[in-house]
Amino acid sequence: MIVLLLGLVGCKSNSNSKDNGKLKVVATTSIITDLLHQIGGDAIEIQGLMGSGVDPHLYKASEGDVNKLFNADVVFYSGLHLEGKLVDIFERMEKQHKNTVAITDVLDRKELLASEQFGSNYDPHIWFNVGFWKQITQYVTDKLKERDPENAELFAENSKQYLKELDALEVEIKAVIETLPKEKRIVVTAHDAFNYFGTAYGFQVLGLQGISTATEAGVQDVQQLSQFIIDNKVKSIFIETSVPRRNIEALQAAVTSKGHNVSIGGDLYSDALGTNGTVEGTYIGMFKYNVNTIVNALK
Ligand SMILES: [Zn+2]
Repeated sequence: MIVLLLGLVGCKSNSNSKDNGKLKVVATTSIITDLLHQIGGDAIEIQGLMGSGVDPHLYKASEGDVNKLFNADVVFYSGLHLEGKLVDIFERMEKQHKNTVAITDVLDRKELLASEQFGSNYDPHIWFNVGFWKQITQYVTDKLKERDPENAELFAENSKQYLKELDALEVEIKAVIETLPKEKRIVVTAHDAFNYFGTAYGFQVLGLQGISTATEAGVQDVQQLSQFIIDNKVKSIFIETSVPRRNIEALQAAVTSKGHNVSIGGDLYSDALGTNGTVEGTYIGMFKYNVNTIVNALK
């Protein structure tokens, strides 16, 4: 009987071993999915819910997603109400003692930007500060080690390597930004995803839609922002890949109607990465692409 019980307990603690023995991990956004690939590599089984170009503020879970979430060994999500329509599901999962990790839990709330537009009262777009992303890398590594101690060494090694790459990323983007005169460091985009970027790297940032895409931009917002663009001689404004382009085109039209010109400086990746398998399909590639696009368009 004891042997039997032990056997059962053994089975239970290895419930993830049902198919291939790998820890089954589910992530919400493509940005978190990339981080899990960097740290977990092939040692874990990773499923990302949101692909390239998907807006996390508006994303609703399908029945298939709910199954994936409840069957995972551990679920990583951003938190701070970034995934606004999934909050209820995560609360339900926590009540059932499912393993969920809000990656932003590790960040000191005093360092976050306040925002009344989110239930969390904070701006959730924290990944645009590389320093925060390093803290999160460490946190996610620790969580994976807890869940899958057999691979702890591998996770630690991958994490160490990745943190070095993030250090190099910071050095590189700061050097690129240095080439842009200070008075030209103004980023106007579709929605307010770049406030942490602005604070960390010295840009003034204005989003046409508030901080979440769940609130529509009004005519007044377009008028005010177009006047700001003219007053500050802003050369280019930016589309975001996860937000419809029509809003930024309306803003451009408003500037034109006042007898001025502003170009569309390119598409930035804000809340979602580029296509899988491309350079912009990784956090580091996305970050470099954004900075190069911004700096080249504003010069
Ligand atoms: Zn956003």
